[in-house]
Amino acid sequence: MKKHILLIEDEAGLVMTLSDRLRSEGYSVDTAGDGESGLQRALQRDFDLIILDIMLPLRSGLDVCRDLRQRNKQTPVMMLTARGQLVDKVVGLKIGADDYLTKPFEMIELLARVEALLRRAPAGSAAEAPAGEIYRFGNISVDLRQSRVLRGDEVIDLSALEFRLLRYLSNIAA
Ligand code: CA
Repeated sequence: MKKHILLIEDEAGLVMTLSDRLRSEGYSVDTAGDGESGLQRALQRDFDLIILDIMLPLRSGLDVCRDLRQRNKQTPVMMLTARGQLVDKVVGLKIGADDYLTKPFEMIELLARVEALLRRAPAGSAAEAPAGEIYRFGNISVDLRQSRVLRGDEVIDLSALEFRLLRYLSNIAA
């Protein structure tokens, strides 16, 4: 059975490239060019995966993701973030995104992550919901109690100030 992907992205060129490629891989693709229509589309039907840009007209990708989770929509979400926006990633994980990809990305990496997310059981995102104060996002985990950020098993150095900022931002995103 064809997997249905919803692509919410406002860059027309990227929408065309991505949807062509995903269709050629056998997926069925719907697109929305702003956060508002993307949210409506995502609520109307059950997609297998949502690829969600953060910087969108009308409603940001972070808002769309948070609204979906608040309405108990557990569709896997892969966020597209701008380079270096660690704060977006942390806020994204806090509000329930399943993975993220930093722009610009290689198509082959996007396809690999799409496959990985689709392979997870439908209950996967719920099963991986944050326990206590540890949040996971792709291979990044953030331990707010121990003030540690890990990529895989490797500790990422963040200054105390950066960590406090992340903690503050993740609290206000809740
Ligand atoms: Ca955008």
